[in-house]
Amino acid sequence: MSALHTVNNAHRRALGPIATPDRLLLGPGPSNAHPTVLQALSRNPIGHLDPLYVELMGEVQELLRYAWQTDNRLTIPMSGTGSAAMEAALANTLEPGDKVLIAVKGYFGLRLADMAGRYRADVVTIERPWGEAFTLEEIEAALREHRPAILGMVHAETSTGILQPMEGVGELCRQYGCLLLLDTVTSLGAVPVHLDDWQVDLAYSCSQKGLSCPPGLGPFTMGPRAEAKMEARRGKVPNWYLDVTLLNQYWGTDRVYHHTAPVNMNFGMREALRLLAEEGLEHAWARHRRNAESLWAGLEALGLELHAPEHLRLPTLTTVRIPEGVDGKAFTLHLLNKHGIEVGGGLGALAGKVWRIGLMGYNSRAENVELLLELFRTELP
Ligand code: PLP
Repeated sequence: MSALHTVNNAHRRALGPIATPDRLLLGPGPSNAHPTVLQALSRNPIGHLDPLYVELMGEVQELLRYAWQTDNRLTIPMSGTGSAAMEAALANTLEPGDKVLIAVKGYFGLRLADMAGRYRADVVTIERPWGEAFTLEEIEAALREHRPAILGMVHAETSTGILQPMEGVGELCRQYGCLLLLDTVTSLGAVPVHLDDWQVDLAYSCSQKGLSCPPGLGPFTMGPRAEAKMEARRGKVPNWYLDVTLLNQYWGTDRVYHHTAPVNMNFGMREALRLLAEEGLEHAWARHRRNAESLWAGLEALGLELHAPEHLRLPTLTTVRIPEGVDGKAFTLHLLNKHGIEVGGGLGALAGKVWRIGLMGYNSRAENVELLLELFRTELP
């Protein structure tokens, strides 16, 4: 104790060790982590410049390329959640005054537009109602009219349960000389994503959904055209923490310290990606589709209505219309309090109108579908 200062105990609390409830997370995310991912996370940290950690970094990068189906050199997990990786995609490529076109069909498209504006981009949006996707004709008309430097889209809109078809979008972007930025937060590892075939220049994701890891890392990837735009910028990247030109000195061959890597999160990410590679992307995608289809069939058999049209339905996230006269919030609270099961409510324009059921990563399993359907059948008022 210092002679000058006494310790103020006003904020001191005598707490017991943490005790978290066992929850089955069938909402919009996070999803439950795979048990071996949890084991990997609980290992003792090693130094973030330890040769063994450096080897692990390479493994994570390589398996992220596999998950995304890309050869992009600049493929790294950002230290932060999906929003950090979203911000990295914008911060590194945008310069003030750049025209950015954001295709908004839900909450996360709005977030992209908001973030791009904070980097002083000239943001224009095209919009579809929350429960629809864009056609190639709509995208082309907007590219022709606005001639943006970047088109930003959300592949899997977690707020609506809509999967944006991507065939042909990349070709249009090349034709109109703009970069294609894609949010794959709710698709990576769970829904087919072919970044290079789709000619996507920038993409990001999260750890806590299709990858069966807790939240904390935001996978990020940047192709050669986006790299060229970053290299040609007139000033520094206006975000030090997410600056890929600096981060690349750590993730590239120089291994220069930038920030202390969250090493345990990367242990978990390596294990999550290892599991995905062991299963194989085709099998993981098929499993998500199979379980989603049985959920959809079961819910419809109970007379419930699904918000997304079948051809645009997202296997990882199902939006179910709350029937007239049912208190949607009370039912999700009942599922949580009585059964320890989390199901999400609606977001933004769909608040109070839908439930959001997630079957993502480790949680996309037949037994979870059966359990939830049984509860909807027997306990929905
Ligand atoms: N984009 C989409 C489509 C999302 O669903 C989310 C989160 O759910 C995000 C971005 C933001 O990710 P995070 O909450 O991990 O920051």
